[in-house]
Amino acid sequence: MFGLLRAFHDLVFPPRCLSCERRLDYSLPPLFCEYCLANIRPLVSPLCTCCGEPFPGGEDHLCGQCLSNAPVYESCRSLFYYQPPLTELLVKLKFSGRTEVVPTLSSLVEKYGLLTGLPEIDIIVPVPLHIKRLRQRGFNQSILLARQLLPENKALLNVTALVRTKNTIPQSSLSGKERRANLKDSFALTSFEAVKNKKVLLIDDVYTTGSTVNACCRILRKAAPSEIHVLTVARSVSRSYATSTSILPPGQAGKSRG
Ligand SMILES: [Zn+2]
Ligand SMILES: [Zn+2]
Repeated sequence: MFGLLRAFHDLVFPPRCLSCERRLDYSLPPLFCEYCLANIRPLVSPLCTCCGEPFPGGEDHLCGQCLSNAPVYESCRSLFYYQPPLTELLVKLKFSGRTEVVPTLSSLVEKYGLLTGLPEIDIIVPVPLHIKRLRQRGFNQSILLARQLLPENKALLNVTALVRTKNTIPQSSLSGKERRANLKDSFALTSFEAVKNKKVLLIDDVYTTGSTVNACCRILRKAAPSEIHVLTVARSVSRSYATSTSILPPGQAGKSRG
């Protein structure tokens, strides 16, 4: 019966590629045509064992930045390079409410085995939206992503411990320095107990300059968690890394995670 309903649904609303809108002859995620799918690149080793910045070659190791100035978190990992068509996909999710993007992302994570070896965690904290932004958008993309990507850890999701106290202007329109200033005093903890002595996993959609993630981690640190790990769906990296890093076979993808 379900198959029949799906066939009827596909007849009325033919499945299309989420990026280029090309007609697809399948309706199960990932909803990408082969051309768009080829441009979605998992972000895998070699990378910095702390901040997750990819290297053009060699082994995993600490990057110069992390060596000279240890980040406020224990580890940060991103699943994909932030490049087209993923960039437009996340824009469609956030600004056009295209939530069907989320199952497609999660099916890609599964396809490439990107979440194997994630560190042990006690609490999952999505980067919060200000209440005004949440009302406008109707959902917080970080919560949707956390639920879909880590379904077996649903019970660990805490959407109230960290809150956004300032309705800042969107980070995407600002430079690195402006981003940090824009986020000053933007987050607060409603419960220190929820985080104290816990292994925290902070989830966000995109890591660009790291300002948002770092601002959240600094607040989380005040509650004395035992560890903070960060996971984002996409990450912007310098062009040289993006073009020279090869994709590992699915079995090895995400091996260094943690
Ligand atoms: Zn396409
Ligand atoms: Zn690093």
